[in-house]
Amino acid sequence: MDFDLTDAHRMIRDMAREFAENEVRPLAAEIDRTDEFPWKLFTRMGELGLLGMTLPEEYGGSGADTVSWSLVEEELARASAAVADAQLLSKLMGDMILRNGTEAQRRKYLPSLARGEKICAIAQTEPGTGSDVASIQTTARRERGGYVLNGTKRFITAAGVCQMAIVVASVDRTKGRRGITLFIVEEGTQGFSRGSKDSLMGVRGLATGELVFEDCFVPEENRLGPEGEGFKLAMISLDSGRIGIGSQALGLAQAAMEEAIRYAKGRVAFGQPIANFQAIQFMIADMSMQIEAARLMLRKAAFLRDQGRPFSRESAEAKLFASEVLGRVVADALQIHGAYGYSAEFSIERIYRDAKLYQIWEGTSQIQRLVIARHLLR
Ligand SMILES: Cc1cc2nc3c(=O)[nH]c(=O)nc-3n(C[C@H](O)[C@H](O)[C@H](O)COP(=O)(O)OP(=O)(O)OC[C@H]3O[C@@H](n4cnc5c(N)ncnc54)[C@H](O)[C@@H]3O)c2cc1C
Repeated sequence: MDFDLTDAHRMIRDMAREFAENEVRPLAAEIDRTDEFPWKLFTRMGELGLLGMTLPEEYGGSGADTVSWSLVEEELARASAAVADAQLLSKLMGDMILRNGTEAQRRKYLPSLARGEKICAIAQTEPGTGSDVASIQTTARRERGGYVLNGTKRFITAAGVCQMAIVVASVDRTKGRRGITLFIVEEGTQGFSRGSKDSLMGVRGLATGELVFEDCFVPEENRLGPEGEGFKLAMISLDSGRIGIGSQALGLAQAAMEEAIRYAKGRVAFGQPIANFQAIQFMIADMSMQIEAARLMLRKAAFLRDQGRPFSRESAEAKLFASEVLGRVVADALQIHGAYGYSAEFSIERIYRDAKLYQIWEGTSQIQRLVIARHLLR
């Protein structure tokens, strides 16, 4: 057993850390305040090879493994959850096309996603359903060499800026999950439009909002994977996505602890730094213990994926644990800041708002427990 990172892992982590510290961190508060998509940083991630990092070289990537990606997510989120999530979206949509696309689809879309020239949204959630994917209302009716899509998607990351979306729709609603099919829809396709933008509490700057499909014709060659297989493909993508989202939660928790330590050493009360009080020290010790446990779980899930071994339960457990650790760590880190923690002057306030999302997206904490229990009880 070896707990050390390889030289290659350390190199990619250090590169991501340098980028995050020098270029992302200085802009993190502004991205949150303006709620504008960080195009400059997104393009820069394309230049650095971070967006397509796990794609094979022939499609513009560098064939990095899941452990590397998890390290990158942790480092980026330590500086800005929004920037980390923009990377995650690109990586997951690239994987989705790589795994399920035709050769023509791979050649057409993957290099521009890797370079950061395009961003692809995943349009699954709807106003009436999120966790219960099999109940989506968006339909895809077969018609003359393609499909006609109708429906509205809600809470879609990058809805306001994407040049393309992978849309989850049903070719036959009576079939439940077996009717679900994926489609690649490009900007400019007639009947495809952007609806309203969501006003969010945290992880702002990702142009999250609605995508609307009104008699939107999509040619057959834009179907991603076989008809009726979309549910399975979306669930497989979620398994990987949970490693990334969990790694982001870890990065945020690490950042919260670092902020708390810095503040505790500098703040004086009753004639001494508050870091001298055992009550504060115990909170920090608990943070460190929980963060380390989450890190080990995430590394293991990533390792299993890289070995080609089953990792679905492990990724759900790691995401659930990391997001719940994050909830506890940010609450204590803000507490250590006292009133300053409650003001926008200190970044812990933004991290606290960002943190809640991690118990909701890529499957809520309740859904992770269902996934874990299903594995154990089947
Ligand atoms: C900022 C943001 C960005 C997002 N980005 C995207 C995106 O890019 N693409 C996309 O498709 N979606 C996206 N989502 C949607 C996200 O994936 C969903 O919000 C999530 O899956 C939960 O769905 P819901 O909000 O409809 O909650 P619901 O499914 O309505 O659940 C409501 C509550 O009921 C609980 N619950 C539901 N079913 C069960 C059950 N069987 N047992 C126990 N409890 C249950 C849930 O845990 C939750 O607490 C985003 C959401 C947010 C907030």
